[in-house]
Amino acid sequence: MKILLHTCCGPCLTYPVDFLHTSGDWDITAFFYNPNIHPYQEFKRRIETLVSFCEHTGIRLIADKEYGLQEFMRRVVFHEQKRCSICYSLRLRSTVAYAKANDFSSFSTTLLYSRYQRHDTIKQLCYALAEEFDIPFVYHDFRAGWQQGIDLSIASGMYRQPYCGCIYSEQERYDNRLKKRLRKTKNPLIIQESHGKHHSSGNNEHT
Ligand code: SF4
Repeated sequence: MKILLHTCCGPCLTYPVDFLHTSGDWDITAFFYNPNIHPYQEFKRRIETLVSFCEHTGIRLIADKEYGLQEFMRRVVFHEQKRCSICYSLRLRSTVAYAKANDFSSFSTTLLYSRYQRHDTIKQLCYALAEEFDIPFVYHDFRAGWQQGIDLSIASGMYRQPYCGCIYSEQERYDNRLKKRLRKTKNPLIIQESHGKHHSSGNNEHT
C-alpha cells in the first residue's frame, strides 16, 4: 500500500517509519513541505538531516526545497493566535492534494508523533481532508513511540532542532532565558523597557 507521509523533520520520521514497517506492508514516501520553518539556515539544516536519514534508510523522499517564508507569513500575520491551525492546514492540504494527484492509496503525517503538537486538531483536520479529497487517512498515535524516536535519532547522530519551526516559536523558546538573565542583572547601565506586546499561542518546544 502506497502511503504519502507528510514529514516535518528527520527525528520525527524515525519512529513512524519503524512502526509502519513492522505493522504492515507499507510502501512509504516521505513528503517534506514545511514553509513554516525559519530562518533559512534552520530550514536548510532540517532538510539536509532528513535527506541523510532517507538516503541511509532507503526511504523515498519528495522534498519541496523552496523556502516558504513569504507564503507562511502572509497567511499568519494578523492571525497569530491561530497560527498553528493555519500552519497545519497549509502543510497538510498540500500533502493530501499531492497524494491524490499522484495515486497514493493513503496519507498520514509525522506531526502525530510529537507530544508538543496539537494532536487532536491535526487528527480532525486529516480526517476532514481525507473526506474532501476522497483518500484514506492512516491514523496512529505515533506519540506512543516518543522515547524510541528520540533514542533512534540520537543514536544516528541526527540534528535535533530546539524549537517547533516558525520565528514565533523560536522567540518563545528562548525568551524566558533572556528574561531570566535580565532579571538577574544588577548593572545600573542596563535599562529594561518594553514597547510592545507579545502573544504566545503556539508550540514553542522542539518537535
Ligand atoms: S509553533 Fe509550530 S505548528 Fe505553530 S505555527 Fe509555529 S511552526 Fe507551525
